[in-house]
Amino acid sequence: MPLMTSEQYEESLRDLNLLVYLFGERIGNPVDHPIIRPSMRALAKTYDLALRPEFEDIMTATSHITGKKINRFTHIHQSIEDLVKKSKMGRLLGRETGCCFQRCVGMDALNALSIVTYDIDAKNGTEYYQRFMKYLQYVQENDLTCDGAMTDPKGDRSLPPHKQEDPDLFVHVVEEKTDGIVVRGAKAHQTGAVNSHEIIVMPTMAMREDDAEYAVAFALPSDAEGIIYIMGRQSCDTRKLEPTTMDVGNQLFGGHEALVVLDNVFVPWERVFMYKEFEFAGQLVEKFASYHRQSYACKVGVGDVLIGAVQTAAEYNGVEKASHVKDKIIEMNHLNETLYCGCIACASEGHREPNGTYAVNSLLANVHKQNVTRFPYEIARLAQDVAGGLMVTMPSEQDLRSPETGKWIQKYLKANPNIPTEDRMRILRLIENITLGAGAVGYLTESMHGAGSPQAQRIMISRLVQMNLKQAAAKKISGIE
Ligand code: SF4
Ligand code: FE
Repeated sequence: MPLMTSEQYEESLRDLNLLVYLFGERIGNPVDHPIIRPSMRALAKTYDLALRPEFEDIMTATSHITGKKINRFTHIHQSIEDLVKKSKMGRLLGRETGCCFQRCVGMDALNALSIVTYDIDAKNGTEYYQRFMKYLQYVQENDLTCDGAMTDPKGDRSLPPHKQEDPDLFVHVVEEKTDGIVVRGAKAHQTGAVNSHEIIVMPTMAMREDDAEYAVAFALPSDAEGIIYIMGRQSCDTRKLEPTTMDVGNQLFGGHEALVVLDNVFVPWERVFMYKEFEFAGQLVEKFASYHRQSYACKVGVGDVLIGAVQTAAEYNGVEKASHVKDKIIEMNHLNETLYCGCIACASEGHREPNGTYAVNSLLANVHKQNVTRFPYEIARLAQDVAGGLMVTMPSEQDLRSPETGKWIQKYLKANPNIPTEDRMRILRLIENITLGAGAVGYLTESMHGAGSPQAQRIMISRLVQMNLKQAAAKKISGIE
């Protein structure tokens, strides 16, 4: 089944036996839970669009293993063009869903592992690449969604993994068996975890010899024994439990994050892709991080939705011709398209790695993500400025529907007489969702901390920038020998 339909995807999730907790209780069926279901729908879009002829070029690719048409989310980038299409795919899906569609992390993990498993073998004569390619083919042939799990809880940040009071604060190997390994620990903030068929676990940072047992990468079926999912909360999440839908803002879609606990989970050797090769942990983290920083093309698509909502709200209010409003919307577009420049540039400046995978330009990917930690906040500030305060003082949909209060809301919340009051309320709720409701997790906080917090990019920028080249240029021009 190289390309699943969204219905098949949904059914495939029902077949999983996941141990998921929300509000202190086990959820039997995450797919139908009102708080989780919107995130499943958003991820399902990655399947839907791949089957639409108009998006085929962006959403699908040709497998370099089998030559078959596959979803781009399971593809290993084989050219600069592939990398550019990946950025375009992120924007497209952000625009289609208005939220985090979650499937990028696994794609980025697969691509990073394709490079690093090959490099480990080249140095150590191991057989990780072959194992990995077999696993990749399984993922491609079944059109699976993989959760890429990198972030450990990390405990006391001043201490390395082996010096933590609790040794499980970083995922580590606790037992080696003839047929595999047993691992323990947790991964935090796992985007789309319970919408995934597979979990690909990677180390969270560069490791030294003392931390060798923590330098481990592997893949697990998401319902493997010993995996526990504890759902994260989102601002305004319980609006999804209300009898009416309008106040949610994003009517159909959302994201989710979960704390994923690995409680003595067995991993067979054929699913282990790094085992104590501590000297490669840093490279795996950097490759993954660069790919994932590129993936923040998604926020450009969400920005498209937000800008479209703000223009619409301005028109509904009758202020769209005011020069300051026009100028604020120009600024929002300028910032959003600047973000687009970054994710296209790091792809266009990509290069081929020894195994044939194309990697993005790390400096530009880090610059892009650094911009993403800032510009969406300014775009959101401008959106709230133009939208006006009604966005947060507006009564509920239930009040709009009520025979007692509905008429007052209809009368007093009307702006442009040609626009139904309800439409005005709907567009304001969407702006609320993206800039401070459940959607702000994806548009703002994920922009800040996802794929690494701002300081992580600044460190990479300082390391990757060619300062000697700049100094040489300055000295030459100023006549210094
Ligand atoms: Fe993909 Fe963006 Fe969500 Fe990360 S935040 S998983 S890049 S959609
Ligand atoms: Fe993210």
